[in-house]
Amino acid sequence: MTSETHRLARLSARVAFAFCAALFCCIPIPADAKVTVKSATKQSAALARTSETTPESRPVADDPTPSENDASAWFQDDTAPRLRDDVLERAKRRRAAWPDFQPLKIAKIKELGIRRIQTKRIDFYTDLAASPDVDQIPEALEAAIPKICQFFKIDEARFDDLHIDAFLMNDPAPFIELGALDAPPQFLHGYSFGDRIYAKRHDSPYYNRFLLTHELVHTIMHELFGDLRPQWFSEGVAEYLGLHRWNPKTKEIEIAYRPESEDETPGFGRVRAIRKANAAGLAPTILQMLRYEPADFADTTAYAWCWAFVTFLHNTPKYRDLAEALPYWAIAARPNQLFIDAVGDRWGELEYDWTDFVSHIDYEYDFQRAAIDRSARIDADYDLAQGVVVTVDPAKGWQATGLELKANQTYQIVAAGRFKYYLPDADKVMEFEAPGATCEYLFGKPAGRLLAAVAPDV
Ligand SMILES: [Zn+2]
Repeated sequence: MTSETHRLARLSARVAFAFCAALFCCIPIPADAKVTVKSATKQSAALARTSETTPESRPVADDPTPSENDASAWFQDDTAPRLRDDVLERAKRRRAAWPDFQPLKIAKIKELGIRRIQTKRIDFYTDLAASPDVDQIPEALEAAIPKICQFFKIDEARFDDLHIDAFLMNDPAPFIELGALDAPPQFLHGYSFGDRIYAKRHDSPYYNRFLLTHELVHTIMHELFGDLRPQWFSEGVAEYLGLHRWNPKTKEIEIAYRPESEDETPGFGRVRAIRKANAAGLAPTILQMLRYEPADFADTTAYAWCWAFVTFLHNTPKYRDLAEALPYWAIAARPNQLFIDAVGDRWGELEYDWTDFVSHIDYEYDFQRAAIDRSARIDADYDLAQGVVVTVDPAKGWQATGLELKANQTYQIVAAGRFKYYLPDADKVMEFEAPGATCEYLFGKPAGRLLAAVAPDV
């Protein structure tokens, strides 16, 4: 853990305060804007506004509830419960249209080299050799069902009669003989079709369990909410919930798990993929993600972006209500439009927050501390000509100063003060000044370096 004291930043116009030479720079200001002084190691990336819209045209078979296309109705106490109940009821009716599979040829499984392991609601079939990792998968899936229900705030009793066939395949041929597949699988890694879920064997035992948990989320969401739309959310939330920690001794599973490192979730290299894509300038805009179609998921990076965006929405308090409403929009005529309408005039802020998160995504990303604090740190009646002192909290991310700067002016910033920082390698706490701990680098900069940015109003 990090232990810090407050660090002081001095910011003035025209007048240089040379109390400390630690941070002394001139910032030419291109346009009217606010200054943000930041204490930690994060810096914002450039944001690009866009006026794109997200076209969608998918007919809805069921009768729409009058106000379901009004985004605000999903967040009002007098209308939201009724809208949600209505979706759940309509989804039950859609359940009747699920595929009616031919029965599996259970009598043949031995000669096909397939093993069957049953729990209360899962029938698990695999041609992989017996091992604890493989043979505990049905128990893990069984344990995940109530956790998924809790996540969506749905009574688990809804799934008392649920029965899911789960297939983990090394060679698809015997599964075709079994009647689990009509033909060689067309999917890359996993697939959910009605109450059957499939995964191809992966080298990582963890990832085998992850893939089937991901597909289980799809099946349950399809059953609960009537469809798997929009695509980005469906895949993102399956990734988010599928990432898990399984305890083979207690038979407990933690879903929506946030690992401390990639080593904990072998095969799930999403953070690495995002960093690589971001460094190459290939990060999609939010609107581009909203437009993802099934073909886009031929590239695993699309899963990574959707996982990151859903993780971001669910873990950032101000966006959690959006994330919780999203599954209910699966059978709305235009779920992405509902999302855009619900964000409303916060869209610029959302883009800004998301870009900052993506720029610093990490396994131990602290959403609470990193949340951009937009509350001004000084009163409005300041006089920059006299010099202004802004105090920043080094334990947090970007913090608005409340200062408005003028175009074509030059300002000087001087920083003073110290903060304490725990150095893991040395196992001790040391004090540093505004340049940061030059013995430890994060995201290419000394840990704890004070950063400043001119931010547009959002
Ligand atoms: Zn999926």
